[in-house]
Amino acid sequence: MSTATRYARLRQTLDETCKKCGRDPKEVKLLAVSKTVDLNQVELAMSAGARCFGENRPDELLRKQAAFPECEWHFIGNIQSRRIKDIVSAATLIHSVCKREHLHKIDQAAKEQGKIQPVLLEVNVSGEESKSGFTPDEVYDALCEAARYENIEVKGLMTMAPRADKDAIEYTFSGLEQLKAQLQAKLDEDKQGVTLSEVSMGMTEDWPEAIPHGATIVRVGRAIFDDSFE
Ligand SMILES: *Cc1c(COP(=O)(O)O)cnc(C)c1O
Repeated sequence: MSTATRYARLRQTLDETCKKCGRDPKEVKLLAVSKTVDLNQVELAMSAGARCFGENRPDELLRKQAAFPECEWHFIGNIQSRRIKDIVSAATLIHSVCKREHLHKIDQAAKEQGKIQPVLLEVNVSGEESKSGFTPDEVYDALCEAARYENIEVKGLMTMAPRADKDAIEYTFSGLEQLKAQLQAKLDEDKQGVTLSEVSMGMTEDWPEAIPHGATIVRVGRAIFDDSFE
């Protein structure tokens, strides 16, 4: 099976999963995580309709965005301060903001480049030490800080579930759903002017679990680009 077929089949399964839980498939973006593949594979996914791609390294983000500027290029990787200008220059959406000091730098870079940078804040719902992200207790203050920056638009939250443990996956995705509702209520009460419309969660192994809990972006790499996924 080819990348194009895997992409088309996955989009179809995603649409069916949305309908089963009473959601409109148009609400859920399939982000094709192309971090392990080259431009030819990106092109094959595009031939099946893919227009949104995810990268976790700044150099690859820049290279692929320059090759296919008609697509959306999302940054989903670890953010290093010294690469923030590059990331801002190419990213449609940054999913992985997990340090408050980076907010200030993203705002400055966006200002210099004359853009408003959409971002998501990454939350470590499961509390695993190996995972990055704000703790659930820290997110509210970080959201309020982000809201004060003129050149940042906070669009929502992102999380990653622990690998291969059904209970932990469910706990993580339902946890982010509940946290989002609580944060939105508090943001409205405090008139912060922030709407958490995007929820980025779910990958190859666990995306079907993320849909019933309100994911609006699933980030899928191997199920699209890996030949061993049939
Ligand atoms: C690599 C990666 C993905 C995609 O993972 P797959 O298991 O290949 O679907 C999603 N999100 C992040 C942050 C990643 O680094």
